[in-house]
Amino acid sequence: MHEIRIAEDLSAIVLETARNESLTKVTKVNIIFGQMIQIVPDIFEFAFRETVRNSVAREAEVDIEIVPVKMKCMNCGSDFQVKENNFACNVCSSTDLDIIQGKELFIKSIEGE
Ligand SMILES: [Zn+2]
Repeated sequence: MHEIRIAEDLSAIVLETARNESLTKVTKVNIIFGQMIQIVPDIFEFAFRETVRNSVAREAEVDIEIVPVKMKCMNCGSDFQVKENNFACNVCSSTDLDIIQGKELFIKSIEGE
């Protein structure tokens, strides 16, 4: 249930941004999660709503984009998208891999008025 902690962290950023930009209402929050964060969108959205319940973001729409995991093989140099937790190079089967995408956790944009 790490969604709750992440929701608290991200809602704090949303509210700080709203304050800095003098928004009276946050209408939409666009969030990017890497697949490796293993967020459950429904739980995250529920937790987020709870934390912004009494704020200018209480009616904000939450848009979550999950980006897939991509790895680069340190042995042969190919990069590929990881499917079904198969953490081996699909060209040479090496497990000497570097994560190049999939650990993202940030707010892409905040819309408001
Ligand atoms: Zn390889």
